[in-house]
Amino acid sequence: MTMNFLSLKEKFDKVKTAAMECLNIENFKESLKSKSSDLVNYIKTHKKNFAIGASVLIIFAGGLSYYESTQGYKVIFNGKEVGVVKNAEDFTKGLGMVQRELSSLYDTNIVFDEDVKYEKTTISKENVLTDATQCANAIYTTKIDLSAQSAVLVIDGQEVVKVASKEEAKEVMAAVVDKYVNLGANEKIVDKPVVKQDYQIIEKVVNLGEVKEFDAAVNYIMQGTDELQEYTVQNGDTSWDIAVNRGIRINELEQANQDKDITNLHSGDVIKLAVPKSYVDVDVTKEAIYNGSIDFGTTYTEDASIYVGKTKLVAAGVAGIKEVTALIKYSNGVEVSREVQKEVVVKEAINQVVAKGTKKLPAVYGTGRFIVPTTGRVSAINKAGSHAGSRAVDIANSIGTAIYAADAGKVVTVSYDSGYGKFIIINHGNGFSTRYAHLSSTGVSVGQTVSQGQRIAGMGSTGSSTGSHLHFEVMLNGTKQVITNYFTSLRVGISVSP
Ligand SMILES: [Zn+2]
Repeated sequence: MTMNFLSLKEKFDKVKTAAMECLNIENFKESLKSKSSDLVNYIKTHKKNFAIGASVLIIFAGGLSYYESTQGYKVIFNGKEVGVVKNAEDFTKGLGMVQRELSSLYDTNIVFDEDVKYEKTTISKENVLTDATQCANAIYTTKIDLSAQSAVLVIDGQEVVKVASKEEAKEVMAAVVDKYVNLGANEKIVDKPVVKQDYQIIEKVVNLGEVKEFDAAVNYIMQGTDELQEYTVQNGDTSWDIAVNRGIRINELEQANQDKDITNLHSGDVIKLAVPKSYVDVDVTKEAIYNGSIDFGTTYTEDASIYVGKTKLVAAGVAGIKEVTALIKYSNGVEVSREVQKEVVVKEAINQVVAKGTKKLPAVYGTGRFIVPTTGRVSAINKAGSHAGSRAVDIANSIGTAIYAADAGKVVTVSYDSGYGKFIIINHGNGFSTRYAHLSSTGVSVGQTVSQGQRIAGMGSTGSSTGSHLHFEVMLNGTKQVITNYFTSLRVGISVSP
């Protein structure tokens, strides 16, 4: 029969395939040995029986060339055919070899959980596993996975985490609840914590690679991930850069770092890059007892040495202390509501003491030395109209900015006209008076005496005005004076204040 002879190339290919097969098996054994240390630790700490499951089946496909009419057994391992043996014991021995190798590798007892079936068949030379070693290699080539009876936490119908046992699953949930409850000193639970989601624990054989360690399982439930993504701020980083470079919205970054001011980051700060998404919502109501502050009030006295309209702090106030009992509701550790039940004063607050001046203002005071009557930016000095010849200054700021008396004196005019709008004139004696125009409000009345720096009005834009500002004039004997003679450093554009 011509079919008995293999061509040289076919022989070469067979040898090469066999060599590669061996190489793959060795690689696979190596990869088993170098599997993550987590898995090895897990197996060592849990010391139970681990099952070896076969997930992929490789059968030698060739063998058309030469048949020898011999009886043997087709091996069905894990429901699948892995090869053909002459003697069933070869395969049993092969299984034993794999079992011993893996048990020694992982330092624990590993058992086969699978049925092995042998079917009588006629065999050809090419696909026969001739001894125990070949059988063991065939088992390795099925890409062995270690699996074990584990517990799965199912939350709202979704398999969320797998852990070693039912007990561990219960402890994991308890730890999650405990972390969210996070009971501090002087706190107690009023209503038992409630997990809002339906959850259950089921037992199932799962691939060991999917089983999580305790802490990782707790983190996973609380954050939706084993490890929070964090970033250490580098010199020159802004929260905007960090967000944009990672495709995160700035408000997400804010939400993820509620304990930090992300607009003010420093090199070395560690920030979270993702908002943790918990698989559960844990609600709890706690009763908390804590110290609160009591604001102090003000007691006024009179002081004849201080002018009317001025005050002086005589004694500083001291805040009091109260013991507060409150019911606080939390959802996943974040306060949702707070209801104060009881307040007990521990220490009364002590009022501050403020002296009010009673000293009469002098009737005639004017010295010609004025203070700048408000705070703002100088927007005009010399311009046509009422400013011609630098006879007024405009100081711009927002509506309501305080206007102060430029010197002590007596209010002689509180009026309105279409040009000046609301305006005040104060007579300072010695022929001096000052005008304050475009006011939004006035706080003094005609005949009232005022001290230098006393608040008299609010800035506005009444009358002929295009924006909120104070129009200020100094007059001597009724004539508007060159303003820069009195305020020598005034320049358009500078900021001024009293
Ligand atoms: Zn003006």
